[in-house]
Amino acid sequence: MTTPVLEIRSLNTALVAPDGRDVQILHDIDLSIGAGECLGVVGESGSGKSVLARTVLGVHPRTTRARSTGQVLLHGEDLLGATPARRTELLGTGIAMVHQDPMTSLNPVVRIADQVTESLTNRRRLGRRARLETAAELLAAVDVPDPARRARAYPHELSGGLRQRVGIAAALAGSPALLLADEPTTALDVTVQRTVLDLLDRHRETRGLATLLITHDIGLLYGRARRIAVMYGGRVVETGPTEAVTERPAHPYTAALLRSVPRVTGPLRRTLPAIPGSAPDLSRPTAGCPFAPRCERADSLCGTTAPPVHRAGPGHTAACHLPLTAAPTPSPGPSLTPSEHPA
Ligand code: SF4
Repeated sequence: MTTPVLEIRSLNTALVAPDGRDVQILHDIDLSIGAGECLGVVGESGSGKSVLARTVLGVHPRTTRARSTGQVLLHGEDLLGATPARRTELLGTGIAMVHQDPMTSLNPVVRIADQVTESLTNRRRLGRRARLETAAELLAAVDVPDPARRARAYPHELSGGLRQRVGIAAALAGSPALLLADEPTTALDVTVQRTVLDLLDRHRETRGLATLLITHDIGLLYGRARRIAVMYGGRVVETGPTEAVTERPAHPYTAALLRSVPRVTGPLRRTLPAIPGSAPDLSRPTAGCPFAPRCERADSLCGTTAPPVHRAGPGHTAACHLPLTAAPTPSPGPSLTPSEHPA
């Protein structure tokens, strides 16, 4: 078996609270992604999925201090032990990120050409003309129309969809081995979400990019991610091949997520079932299963004892005392927004 591009082993990450306490966000994460593979990471807000991406990238918000243990291996090199200089060297060429909101990730007062070629100009001097030509090539590769003109533009002159394409062009400029995409379509109109995801798929396939696709919408991963990791309370609670996880979920949280996805087939449901309660407060650690207060299957053991890892099938596991063995769940297919439902 070839070495995965990214291998995360026993990763624990704590953020330092204003009172100096460590608040543990990530608990014993184990994941891997091979070349050309898409791993979908799904969970609600507060599940820890964005902290996971930032820990892999090694970049946390300026006001946040983070402490991590375990290993984050990029082609076998442990990024947690890398010097700041080595980290900087890898940003753009080893790992790149596509952000959620292109309006905030792009600098409003810097021309598109300079932003798209930034990871290249960090390494070699490029004159203005070379920057414009290179940027136009990179923009053309992500289907930006009239790329030479757009290279000279500022972010506010482009639509949201085009700005996200610019973000993708900038991420791909340094030919990274690993792409982190954190809710890359959340800020976009539903009509352009699919084209942006198709674009990411195309580049993953043609460049052999390992892709970590983070989303709150499990339906979006269907047909795109080869494997899914479901996160809850900073833990991976279920992981496995996409088909197995979406058709035969073993964890009650995954099953509840799937029930809340609109379907393209079957009878129209006017009200989608929501998961009662809210995501756990990660600053209050629990000894048992973090989903227990919201789980309809919970028993007394669930509230006091961490759930064991249950094998649900080949490469398919779920951390649960009472895993589901129910009949297969119909696959969600591509997700719909309410506006796409027939009236
Ligand atoms: Fe529900 Fe218990 Fe399983 Fe947690 S361990 S998901 S509370 S059944």
